[in-house]
Amino acid sequence: MPAGRPLESSQTADVVIVGGGVIGLSVARALAKRGLHNVIVVDKNEFGREASWAAGGILAPQVEADKDDDFFRIACASRDLYPQFTEALQSETGIDAQLDTTGTLYAAFADDEEAEFRARFVWQQSQGLAVEWLDPESARKLEPELSERVCCALRFPNDFQVENRRLVSALLIANERLGVRLNQGCEALAIRTENGRVAGIETAHGFISAPFVVLAAGAWTSSIASSTALPQIEIKPVRGQMLSFNPNEQLARHVIYSSRGYLIPRSDGRLLAGSTTETAGFEKRVTSEAVSAITSMAVEILPALASLPVGASWAGFRPCAKDGLPVLGPTKRIDGLFYATGHYRNGILLAPITGELIAEAIVSSSSPPLLSSFSPDRFE
Ligand SMILES: Cc1cc2nc3c(=O)[nH]c(=O)nc-3n(C[C@H](O)[C@H](O)[C@H](O)COP(=O)(O)OP(=O)(O)OC[C@H]3O[C@@H](n4cnc5c(N)ncnc54)[C@H](O)[C@@H]3O)c2cc1C
Repeated sequence: MPAGRPLESSQTADVVIVGGGVIGLSVARALAKRGLHNVIVVDKNEFGREASWAAGGILAPQVEADKDDDFFRIACASRDLYPQFTEALQSETGIDAQLDTTGTLYAAFADDEEAEFRARFVWQQSQGLAVEWLDPESARKLEPELSERVCCALRFPNDFQVENRRLVSALLIANERLGVRLNQGCEALAIRTENGRVAGIETAHGFISAPFVVLAAGAWTSSIASSTALPQIEIKPVRGQMLSFNPNEQLARHVIYSSRGYLIPRSDGRLLAGSTTETAGFEKRVTSEAVSAITSMAVEILPALASLPVGASWAGFRPCAKDGLPVLGPTKRIDGLFYATGHYRNGILLAPITGELIAEAIVSSSSPPLLSSFSPDRFE
């Protein structure tokens, strides 16, 4: 991964972004593509090695959706940007983020799930969304290794997946080529404000002056101090553990959900399985309880996995706000301060739209309507 150009002594930027995960990097690229070339991204560690690395890369707003709301709308809008987003990144960098458009299946194992699936199917069809009802035979025709215990399934042909680690690599190179200054190993300690507006950030390596600061520090966002009271926004880390298997043959083509978790077949042959949602502070640890729960979920969906050892395991921290929704856009408390955080379980999905909307808000000095429900000021 590129380490980026080091900070120069002047340390002045048009925009400084705190956090170089998928969100910070998407915002930086969108700004640079709008002609802002003096953009700095700082990350306290290595770029893209936290939640954005740990994630599964599922882009599936429909799979659990039973109603239309602002979150569903922004999630679908972001998913629909993905084909163009990954294509553009490939032409900018040569890196294929492996957008896989096979689709997503949600398999039911108990009769009481069937009613829930039926309601979701009927509602989504009434909205003109692409969704298919599968009886067990048709589900196994699509996925022959699927358990005989499946009683029905829904297929969401437009819910995709992306290789999130390749996506981060592509975003880094795209930013570097656009002239964005990327500074890893540079921790933001505090936001400096003067007369109610942002003046820049204090970092472990000195002050960076900028009229705009974007907080994209994921699960660590609340730990960044300010000389003025920031809005009361608590972002908590929610630990997620994941496993991968290395089957000798392809066991699935779709992303497959059950009520207990999901499986993600990668084009390099790995099969990912996840996940947990735990309150464990910042303890980045894989536990034996999680390994056995995720393995049993995986085997319930694809019994052939029973004979396979776990290939790899890892954990990461989803950034979660009090209401579980993203925190996006400017705050009326401090001019020039923008939030791009709290993406919880959907930060990979929401990266393209977050980049576009935050960059648009900064460049045009007005907040796009899609951001209004996610304002940082909603907690006041
Ligand atoms: C197990 C797991 C599975 C997931 N699966 C999916 C999925 O399938 N689909 C999906 O859409 N989402 C998924 N997610 C959620 C997704 O990973 C996150 O929502 C997303 O990565 C958040 O991106 P981010 O850039 O905000 O955070 P991060 O990737 O965590 O990046 C934040 C960055 O900020 C840096 N930072 C923190 N504090 C400072 C500071 N003071 N100064 C400088 N830098 C700082 C960190 O070092 C880090 O690099 C999953 C998450 C987990 C953990």
